[in-house]
Amino acid sequence: MRFKFCPKCGERLTLKPMGDDGDTPFCEKCGKPWFDMFSSAVITLVVNEYGEAALLKQNYMSEKYMVLVSGFIKPGETAEETARREVHEEIGIELTDNRLVGTYWFAKKDMMMIGFIARAKKAELRLSGEVDEARWVPVEDAINLVHPEGSVSYALLDEYLKRSVSEKFVEDIREIKWFENSGTPTEKYLLVRSVYDAYDNWNAKYLSVWEPQIYFLEELAEKIIGDDTIDDIFETVSAALDSDIWREWQLFRERAGLNEENTLDEEIADMAKRDLCWAAVEKALNITGFFTELLDIYRGGYFPCGWDGEYPNGRAAVM
Ligand SMILES: [Zn+2]
Repeated sequence: MRFKFCPKCGERLTLKPMGDDGDTPFCEKCGKPWFDMFSSAVITLVVNEYGEAALLKQNYMSEKYMVLVSGFIKPGETAEETARREVHEEIGIELTDNRLVGTYWFAKKDMMMIGFIARAKKAELRLSGEVDEARWVPVEDAINLVHPEGSVSYALLDEYLKRSVSEKFVEDIREIKWFENSGTPTEKYLLVRSVYDAYDNWNAKYLSVWEPQIYFLEELAEKIIGDDTIDDIFETVSAALDSDIWREWQLFRERAGLNEENTLDEEIADMAKRDLCWAAVEKALNITGFFTELLDIYRGGYFPCGWDGEYPNGRAAVM
């Protein structure tokens, strides 16, 4: 909304150049610019411990679609406080956790929407007078009951579904006993004896097999889930793995008696992290590809560091 009159003294405003903002409505009497105004609201996806979202029916907003809890920010409030207050007022639920997802411009209402994904314990919903109906709905179903793609409700539910893939993946890989069998001969794989052996004798083969697989998957994933989701998966999975992989690798080195300084340690940790991030991407795409196969090798307590034979024939070379 663009001001014509000063909201303070009622004087007609003039246009005055204001640096990068260009010509801006200005009150000569108050000596004050009045920048274009819009309202700010908060929208919160509340999810309980069963993966169900709190969906509301508010007929004054839509007769057709269900909505998420939303409301205007009051002066003096933070957006986080608004989220807690609105969820409490509208459905009588207390949030146990609340995270900012992003901000969305809602052109139809000239409004800045600040989106959160919040957690709460499942409890009966106590409705305010503003709510006609509300219920807990599994997130997978909820996404079909709100305004379709392009709406903020849809974006938040979609974000939750994507995140839950990487979160579940992270839970799954926490059980892996990293490098537990490294150094133990196996019929299934070709055993590589040392880090130097791996690097000197297997690196070229490693690159020739891994790189085309990464290009292939990256291209597919960009089309289907998009760069932002790929970045999110890499961030979540790397952060979850970082200390585990590093610690377990050091323990393996001790067990194997590799006491000398090893300049390849970081590279090995990065290779493992990258393999598992791509395995998580395959999971998000719902496919079983090369990196899911590598994940099985990690689960078996080995570290895949090369390929014996012509891929896809042959077998993995592991440490
Ligand atoms: Zn004025």
